[in-house]
Amino acid sequence: MSISKSHGGGKDNPLMQYVLNHSLREHPVLNKLRLRTMEDPWNIMMVACEQAQFMANLARLIKAKKALEIGVYTGYNTLSMALALPDDGVVVACDISEKYTNIGKPFWKEAGVEHKVDLRIQPALNTLDELLSSGQAETFDFVFIDADKVNYDNYYEKSLLLVRKGGIIAIDNVLWGGQVLNASSKGPDTVAIDKLNKKLHRDVRITLSMLTVGDGLTLAVKL
Ligand code: CA
Repeated sequence: MSISKSHGGGKDNPLMQYVLNHSLREHPVLNKLRLRTMEDPWNIMMVACEQAQFMANLARLIKAKKALEIGVYTGYNTLSMALALPDDGVVVACDISEKYTNIGKPFWKEAGVEHKVDLRIQPALNTLDELLSSGQAETFDFVFIDADKVNYDNYYEKSLLLVRKGGIIAIDNVLWGGQVLNASSKGPDTVAIDKLNKKLHRDVRITLSMLTVGDGLTLAVKL
């Protein structure tokens, strides 16, 4: 199931190509980072460019200053978010891989936003615990969860503590290429995503939307 494969510019989907042609305003350095990322065999892990632009617009809409990104890969969305935040804003970017985040770093610098990126290389749950224990609960405006799927619920619960009321938690890959249909017969990643989807639907701590952008994106707004 291919909802949108926009990484390469939507060449295999004329309607997606139209969407990109008529809405994408990719910063020149974002464009360079996307092309660089396309050289990596794991480029499917990069967030769709129109999705990154949408999340940057959401961040602007709620006047976000403090963002949290759980799962960085080469930092395309990190850069997109950093560009959207004011000069004294910050993206706390969590990943376990220096190999991939090192690809993004020079581009963050080239775009003049490296001072807004606080990269933490360790398991994200450790970073989230550190943020909580340093008194940063309810201080984040925007969270993007896009790391290992079996920990999605843990990331969500800690993010819900870290985000302010009216803040947004965006959760990626919630359709998992369509695998969420009959998820119980699938692997642990699919089961974890489906379980969180079901939980979010009845979670009274948030309002939500599940969007079919990219590989499925749920927006949870903290009440
Ligand atoms: Ca993803």
